[in-house]
Amino acid sequence: MIYLDNAATTKMDSQVLEAMLPYLSESYLNPSAFYQGAVKIRMQVEGARRSIAEKLGVPSDTIFFTSGGTESDNWAIRLAAQLQCEKGKHIITCAIEHPAVLNTFKYLQENGYDVTYVGVDRSGRIDLTQLKESIREDTVLISIMHANNELGTIEPIEEIGQIAHEKDILFHTDAVQTFGHIPIDVDGCNIDLMSVSGHKLYGPKGIGFLYIRDRRRFGRLHFGGSQEKGLRPGTENVPGIIGLSKAVEIAYDRLEQDITSVSALRDLFAAEIKKAIPGVCINGDNEHHLPGTVNVTFKGILGESLLIALDQSGICASAGSACSAGAIEPSHVLIACGLTPDEAGRTLRFSIGRNNTPEEILKTISVLKTICRV
Ligand SMILES: *Cc1c(COP(=O)(O)O)cnc(C)c1O
Repeated sequence: MIYLDNAATTKMDSQVLEAMLPYLSESYLNPSAFYQGAVKIRMQVEGARRSIAEKLGVPSDTIFFTSGGTESDNWAIRLAAQLQCEKGKHIITCAIEHPAVLNTFKYLQENGYDVTYVGVDRSGRIDLTQLKESIREDTVLISIMHANNELGTIEPIEEIGQIAHEKDILFHTDAVQTFGHIPIDVDGCNIDLMSVSGHKLYGPKGIGFLYIRDRRRFGRLHFGGSQEKGLRPGTENVPGIIGLSKAVEIAYDRLEQDITSVSALRDLFAAEIKKAIPGVCINGDNEHHLPGTVNVTFKGILGESLLIALDQSGICASAGSACSAGAIEPSHVLIACGLTPDEAGRTLRFSIGRNNTPEEILKTISVLKTICRV
């Protein structure tokens, strides 16, 4: 198998599995319990929190473990809006967000909030002028992702954070595609809330965290015991937390090295596909993009036909379309960038990761060449 769908999920690192194993068997005690063995587990959970916080350069009591990106997005956006409803009910996001963000905004919109969806240009970068102009007296939240999962386009979050900060508006960013892949300056970007997921950075599934800069300005997701300072109660996912912290440690140890090697593979892919297949168009931003994500529109062949043929050769990629309610809808991301539904239907995402090799890239291009009969 050639796995080029690392933006969907990544293969868990074997060192992560190793770190987790004891907590799935003999180290099973409840971290909230009184006895010494449990205190040790609790200290390990807090050590994991501290280690993650250190990588971000933030205090450890700003890291709240969740079940992943979706939960973090839901929590951040819903609570930020609801807690400030006295102050105002206008909230801002952009058209190319992940469904975890967009559908939370949709829910709020159906419940009396006013939503502005800021547009993006052809490369998927948000329109900062439009963002500034859309801010009102009653704006209480801006949620813009750090990098887009389909295009790989990196958003100008430093500028967005600055705009939000000047107006005292909470700024949430979905950093699921970027944390552990490229550096993030949480303070420099004035980020108030940030969502992260473990399985996108070679960690376990079902674990992630929400960074909450000031919990006094924030609220609880669930009602229950005192775990996660009572804001996100429930017995901790100890193996997940230990695994996530190990994955983060590995990611930061090899950050520069991975950026260099994964970018080289992406450059190879982009150069070779242009040479091999006439009429392909690479979407996204030339300068501001993730190391490993390539989004390609083909000529004269449906994305789905391509995906099926690639799958038959053992190659995993992803379509620029999402299947909803049985119907294939063109990707909202590509449509927001100005692609036609027809172009969107001929678009695939290849997301390269640290485990891929140049041979796999060249093999994929040669298979694509055969499928496209060129
Ligand atoms: C994968 C992804 C999510 C969802 O994360 P889960 O941990 O799978 O819930 C949210 N946002 C973005 C940008 C993603 O790529």
